[in-house]
Amino acid sequence: MKKRSSLILLVNSLAIISAFLIFQNKNISDRVIIAGATILPMSSDNAEIEAVLVDKGIIAAVGDLKELREANEDAEIIERAGQTILPGLIEPHTHPLASALLGATVDVSGFTHPNRISVISALKDAADGMGISPWLIAYGWDAAAVEDLERPSLEELDQISPERPMIILTQMMHEAYVNTAALSAVGIDPTDTNQTVHDGFVRNQNGTLNGTIREIDALGIMFEKIPPAPDSATELLLRLQYNKYAKAGYTSIGIPGVVGRHSDAIGLVKKVADRKASPLRSYLYLLKAQIKEMELGGSNDFKILGMKFWMDGSPYTGGAAVDAPYENNKFTIERLGIPANHKGTLNFSPADLQSMISDYHAKGYQIAAHVQGERAARSVIDAISKAQKDNPNPSLRHRLEHNALITDELLARAKNLNISVGFFVDHLTYYGDTLPKIFGDDRMARYMPVKSAFDKGLIVTLHGDHPSTPINPFRTLQTATTRQSRSGQSISGKDEKISIYQALQAMTINAAHQLGQGAEIGSIEIGKRADFTFLSADPLTMAPETLHTIEALETWKDGQPVDTSSINWKNIKLGFNTLIGILSR
Ligand SMILES: [Zn+2]
Repeated sequence: MKKRSSLILLVNSLAIISAFLIFQNKNISDRVIIAGATILPMSSDNAEIEAVLVDKGIIAAVGDLKELREANEDAEIIERAGQTILPGLIEPHTHPLASALLGATVDVSGFTHPNRISVISALKDAADGMGISPWLIAYGWDAAAVEDLERPSLEELDQISPERPMIILTQMMHEAYVNTAALSAVGIDPTDTNQTVHDGFVRNQNGTLNGTIREIDALGIMFEKIPPAPDSATELLLRLQYNKYAKAGYTSIGIPGVVGRHSDAIGLVKKVADRKASPLRSYLYLLKAQIKEMELGGSNDFKILGMKFWMDGSPYTGGAAVDAPYENNKFTIERLGIPANHKGTLNFSPADLQSMISDYHAKGYQIAAHVQGERAARSVIDAISKAQKDNPNPSLRHRLEHNALITDELLARAKNLNISVGFFVDHLTYYGDTLPKIFGDDRMARYMPVKSAFDKGLIVTLHGDHPSTPINPFRTLQTATTRQSRSGQSISGKDEKISIYQALQAMTINAAHQLGQGAEIGSIEIGKRADFTFLSADPLTMAPETLHTIEALETWKDGQPVDTSSINWKNIKLGFNTLIGILSR
């Protein structure tokens, strides 16, 4: 096992070092003309452009190469023959700190493991090895993606890790499995049928606990007892995470809720995001508990836009608050543990929801609400409708997140209230084959109704909600246009496919509008910031099924190539053991 850890350490170190070298760009001059590539401006008139003049980080002119050249003889010409240039890609819903931290845990995901044997053996290996934390933390358990993944019993968890506290987080992070040592750490005796514990700790029929924990409040009780990683290690992981987004092609991210443990999570994101060499712009929505005296606003690299809350949970745990019950079958009841005739619950009473939304709306906070089921979307729309009526501020554009089962009628109401909608279409990539068992064919025909939302004229965006899925904008692009599952076996809601151009709009200009930054970023137009993503191919000329083969060759922010090798190691005080801990797991 020691040998294996050292090998993993070596391989990972090399991978990380080589990753630093990929975008090794030197700064270029302040005035450049970019030409030779196909340019997709994503502007409202979508005028054809042959070249772009960048002056001190701003797009100063666009148009004909010969004319730009004659008028700007001092500008350096940058040739990008064969490439395609988009405005910098924008990911409007992602969680960088959680991605950074969970990236350092034991991977038990369906992206890596084909079956239960493989998942359990990864856990057993990890229980024998070392890790970043005295707890064994695994992430990615996914009964909806790994076909034979029965829920673990407490006995099985105790066998895998008899003494070291172990927590296995599910992919969507709405459920976890813990062993007896972990329960003991929070003062719970699983055999005591009389002990008062939070509802989220699931009991067997005989009243003992079965090791399953559901939804955020109960998970929080557990998280509080897990010793945190050293702040310096977390900072390093977050910086590496920022580089990952940039390498994937993103130049801006929206963070609806900074989730992930750190003594000052917002301060850490600000530190990593708000510096000249940062590869990304970050736009934040704070959780209620994080909103203190913090002011809205910020710099060009780091801005606080509003607040985020969860109105319901995940479809895969019965958390989505739906109108008609989940399908009753072996898969939903036995595998996913969803009770028969279940409809999910709302996280707020109507009165509490109304007072929260009216309050933040009045203060000028943009509100981002997690809504998967119809009931969740309806409640939030009702509350926003009343808040806008009592205190009209139509330009304050609130957001609905994920929108698995939002209906036509609700989309129409959202449009009238100037609410934008973001879709987590990668559900269809990873769960397209199993979702019909959860919601049935009728509901699947309108699951994630992206085209309906476009047709109604809403501001529509697409997101990956990392770490819920691996970062890959081109997979998201492909899924929105094909709606095909990873296996190729299912196409969910074929009438809700959008065009490649619409998907690109969703990932650039629409995302900029959703974040309220449409005047600054999101298209290649005069006066906007010179943020670009250089692609290996022109998506508009490709078959939708092949879009995932596109590569991001380079990103630029403020007129300069992003350099992801620029981690300043001197500023990060990191113990050697911590570093080994991170690299080996
Ligand atoms: Zn999220």
